[in-house]
Amino acid sequence: MPVIRQEDFIASIADALQYISYYHPPDFIRALYDAYRREESPAARDAMAQILVNSRMSAEGHRPVCQDTGIVVAFLKVGMSVRWEADLSLEAMINEGVRRAYTNPDNPLRASVVADPAGTRKNTGDNTPAVIHTEIVAGDKVDIIIAAKGGGSENKATFTVLNPADSIVDWVLETVPTLGAGWCPPGILGIGIGGTPEKAMLLAKQSLMSPIDIQALRERGPQTTAEKLRLELYDKVNALGIGAQGLGGLTTVLDVKVLDYPTHAASLPVALIPNCAATRHIHFTLDGSCPAKLPVPKLADWPEIALGPTQARRVNLDTVTRDDIKTWRPGEALLLSGRLLTGRDAAHKRLIDRLNRGEPLPEGVDLRDRFIYYVGPVDAVRDEAVGPAGPTTATRMDPFTDTILEKTGLMGMIGKAERGPAAIASIKKHGAVYLIATGGAAYLVSKAIRSSRIIAFPELGMEAIHEFVVEDMPVTVAVDTQGNSVHEMGPREWRGRIAGIPVVAQ
Ligand code: SF4
Repeated sequence: MPVIRQEDFIASIADALQYISYYHPPDFIRALYDAYRREESPAARDAMAQILVNSRMSAEGHRPVCQDTGIVVAFLKVGMSVRWEADLSLEAMINEGVRRAYTNPDNPLRASVVADPAGTRKNTGDNTPAVIHTEIVAGDKVDIIIAAKGGGSENKATFTVLNPADSIVDWVLETVPTLGAGWCPPGILGIGIGGTPEKAMLLAKQSLMSPIDIQALRERGPQTTAEKLRLELYDKVNALGIGAQGLGGLTTVLDVKVLDYPTHAASLPVALIPNCAATRHIHFTLDGSCPAKLPVPKLADWPEIALGPTQARRVNLDTVTRDDIKTWRPGEALLLSGRLLTGRDAAHKRLIDRLNRGEPLPEGVDLRDRFIYYVGPVDAVRDEAVGPAGPTTATRMDPFTDTILEKTGLMGMIGKAERGPAAIASIKKHGAVYLIATGGAAYLVSKAIRSSRIIAFPELGMEAIHEFVVEDMPVTVAVDTQGNSVHEMGPREWRGRIAGIPVVAQ
């Protein structure tokens, strides 16, 4: 009878989390590369190129593909005949594995988990606890899936209970455009259908744990309702034209997964959870012989592609003027050099509190005619200026935007995904701009950061205000000084092109 030893189990969990922080699953790389080759939208193609290059760099450098290294989700199937040589509970062993992985000095991962979520929201410091789903099954092995889900895509999880006669396809097609681009497409949609509300959510999450195989499904032909639904949704969601990073393009989803379960005759629960450009999960089995042996991928599994576009406008952040930014247009590629301040949720809250109390900003935080980057980087190791440092979702900063622009004279913001109508109106009113960096290309972006120093709120950790000096940091203009948004214009254009509808410029 196999005996699973505590140390083997903990080491396997820790190794798996380190592994998925820097290795994308090979099926994701293949599917993204196929989409990249098919893509006709220059901006979306460039975003996919950045994600692919970033992925290869992460695999080589053993550093995270994204600065948001996720909340850990574990699915376990524990054989009824398994015996344990362990003092800790299953949950405690998993959390010890998480702790070890996230505090590994060779590749520290960002601790993003906060306790007391409706209150103090204090960071637990080591990314524990994991969210654990355990099944007891027949057999003498332990089957484990470990995933690390980023907040940007988890925040877009959606649930409904439809009437049994309602169309699931219609609901998904109405829902996906409302998600915006904060889930960093292109990615995968997980759909859970049936059971009860919590079962449908769990099915949606579980569905994301299997490899991308939509093209193989198309070739062999769908056999079940779920498979037919996958193909229909894959085609129709991509026809929405949302595209990579919401910039407009041919590929929004690389796959659509569907899992179903019997439900009550009166109900049709449906859950939707996206997986993002930082798709991270691995599956392994422990039989008591040793810790998990994870396959080391070959660098040849990653395509070698050149980054474009070559026509990017170079911008000196130290000398750029209000007149200069008036000439920038949505979708235009820029390469930024010079000094850049950082700040995200907690720092913005503190700045706003000071401004509302009529107090000065902290010493060294002068935002007049400056740019602020919404980012919470991973800690640096070795000779890095900063660890992976991709953008966070800008809409969370929308409530602060008008006050910041009004009272500080900030010229521009850099984040990811769209801005809401009020923030866009404010950007237009103040003649500011909003730029996006590619979500899911955090290691690549960090290589453009030459130096970093904390200038305010060091106690906020990764949320402290830093000053970065950047060189040729790639960004795209998302909202121009006139309030035109690429996230509205791009998908409209590509939806029209895909449908063969002539697009009238406005
Ligand atoms: S790719 Fe985007 S949604 Fe995914 S973890 Fe990174 S920032 Fe979050």
